Amino acid sequence: MDQLLYPLRGALLGLAALTHVSANPIAPAASNGAQRLVEAYPAFLERVDGNDVVWRDGTRMPFEVGRTPASYVERLDHADLADQMSVPYPSLAPITPPAWNVDPGRMRFEPLFEKMYGASSGEVQRNLVGVAWFGQTLLFSKVNGADRALALVAADVAKQPELLAFVRPSAGTFVWRTIAGSSRRSTHAYGIAIDVNTRVSDYWRWSGAKEGARGLTYRNRVPLALVRIFERHGFVWGGRWYHYDTMHFEYRPELAAPHAN
Ligand SMILES: [Zn+2]
Repeated sequence: MDQLLYPLRGALLGLAALTHVSANPIAPAASNGAQRLVEAYPAFLERVDGNDVVWRDGTRMPFEVGRTPASYVERLDHADLADQMSVPYPSLAPITPPAWNVDPGRMRFEPLFEKMYGASSGEVQRNLVGVAWFGQTLLFSKVNGADRALALVAADVAKQPELLAFVRPSAGTFVWRTIAGSSRRSTHAYGIAIDVNTRVSDYWRWSGAKEGARGLTYRNRVPLALVRIFERHGFVWGGRWYHYDTMHFEYRPELAAPHAN
């Protein structure tokens, strides 16, 4: 729904300006997205004020930055908070191949993550703690309780031994890097992402396709039972993206909470 409304937002803004119908400069669907952000990150975010998300320290970040509609890849490279919240994430739903360029959660407003988790490798690392993971100790951010969420995932997976082959060994968590083939920072850089066992995983880039191109063939071997465990604890899964990355889970409570959409 939010996704359908996205192209209309500019028109709605224009209408509001012309007719003075509303003191609130953003459409209702957009303000819902802003409110979901505030609810997901209560340690940092305090409230929504018009088009601004207001931090507890007084910082204001505009939810929507007015600009000309861009291509999908340009939006990925320059996403605002409205873009970040624009594609509903189908938490707990059956696994189906996502439609062209439907990548819920893949668009992110980088300054939000830098301010919460750290803007440099050193800043992020100061927030990392060890989480036990089936014989490994994984470094994960303690910010927003991401480490506790990962520990709860491990506890739930341990109750279903048939899932162990998919999560063990983890291919990694924290690494200060950009996403392969792009200049965008990976959520691995913030210590909030985990890759599970690559031997039973699939990644769109392995097909040699170009980002944003039509006709990707969706592949996945990760079971829904595992995906749902992660989602219940606030993670989104790369297997729900058109640009699928089925080993990849990241802590994104603003999208993963079943009530979020
Ligand atoms: Zn990953």
